[in-house]
Amino acid sequence: MRNLYYSWRFYTFGREQYYDCMNKVFSNNLLSLRQVNLIIAVFAGIFSAFPIVVENDFKKAGICAVVAVIALLLSLYSNFLMQQINIKNRLIYIISMIFYTNITLFGTYLGIWSNADRVVSIFSCFLICALLLFLNPPHFNFFLTVSAMVIYIVSSIIINKVPRDWIFDIVNVTIAGVIGLFFNWSITKLRMGMELSTTKLEEERSKYLDQSILDELTQLRNRRDFTNTFHRYVVNFRTTDDYLCVAICDIDFFKGYNDHYGHPKGDDCLRAVGGVLNSLKESMGVYAARVGGEEFAMLWFEKDVTHVDTVVQHVMKLIGDLKIPHEKSKVAKHVSMSIGIFVERCGAYGDTQTLYDLADKALYSAKTGGRNCAIVHGDEIKNYKILPPDAE
Ligand code: GH3
Ligand code: MG
Ligand code: MG
Repeated sequence: MRNLYYSWRFYTFGREQYYDCMNKVFSNNLLSLRQVNLIIAVFAGIFSAFPIVVENDFKKAGICAVVAVIALLLSLYSNFLMQQINIKNRLIYIISMIFYTNITLFGTYLGIWSNADRVVSIFSCFLICALLLFLNPPHFNFFLTVSAMVIYIVSSIIINKVPRDWIFDIVNVTIAGVIGLFFNWSITKLRMGMELSTTKLEEERSKYLDQSILDELTQLRNRRDFTNTFHRYVVNFRTTDDYLCVAICDIDFFKGYNDHYGHPKGDDCLRAVGGVLNSLKESMGVYAARVGGEEFAMLWFEKDVTHVDTVVQHVMKLIGDLKIPHEKSKVAKHVSMSIGIFVERCGAYGDTQTLYDLADKALYSAKTGGRNCAIVHGDEIKNYKILPPDAE
């Protein structure tokens, strides 16, 4: 029974998606709900004059007027609620509940107080409900529709002493209710389907966007993203007091690693190094990308050039801490990197290619100067070497 309830409640949608969709459907329809509430109140008011005109019955008209006033007050209250800035799901439930109370009042009023045309009036009233039912999730509508039907039938039994009359009512209300629920179900499904396909499209879009900027193997930014980011960093530099640091990293003797351990192990190694470089954004504000097979680039800003060492040493330490054995390396027992860094005062060089070449030159010095080290170049600083923290 429980399973049946849940499968019906969530239909083919996941729980999260279901609520997500319903929230969107709700907020899209708040305005129409507000207007409909008012229209119902106005109609109830007009109909309260009906018994006076047709039957000259002031007692009936008085009761009808009370119904109309209640409907109007409820509408005003729901309008007031809807004007609250943060409309939460729960609030929408309250508004829908008020709406339904209105519908029920109006339906009961129409059915009981408007003489022989009862069948037509009940039917049309429930048809209004049916068309507007899509505002709510199906289980909520089911509960409200059944409640409305029960209220109507009980009122009918109390007021109409002749069984023939209330049996007639039960049949009519049941037919109208079933039609209402059918409409509700199909419209809700349709609207949720629309919302879901929009969500799916958005997901696909962000997936393709990710694919266009990410390197599949390491999950670092790819070369294309690096080119764009580098350009942005150079063009929109912060202030001329800042320094832009461009670093190119290359794994030492990686060809030997691949030959000895095999290509899949080589890929694992690249993934591990990629993971380390990816973590730099959060810990040190350093942007990193994979720009070649086993080559990576980093970009970051510094206020103080002496801080460059801190970043570089941190990167070297993290790579050393991976402790990936590398028997074919002539410079270390574990996988190591050579890093070339060029530090420029923001705005000193206009184009990215020159900066990249200068950093590449520093990398070349690191490779020829012993590997497993970093060489820092810059116009305003003397060239110097940084060794990994664990080097003797
Ligand atoms: P050096 O210290 O001078 O940089 O030596 P090296 O062997 O690292 O130099 P080289 O740049 O010639 O070698 C790069 C190697 O990286 C060649 C290739 O086998 C390997 N490589 C490039 N891309 C990938 C990849 O996606 N996966 C794996 N497993 N290996 C790759
Ligand atoms: Mg290389
Ligand atoms: Mg290499």
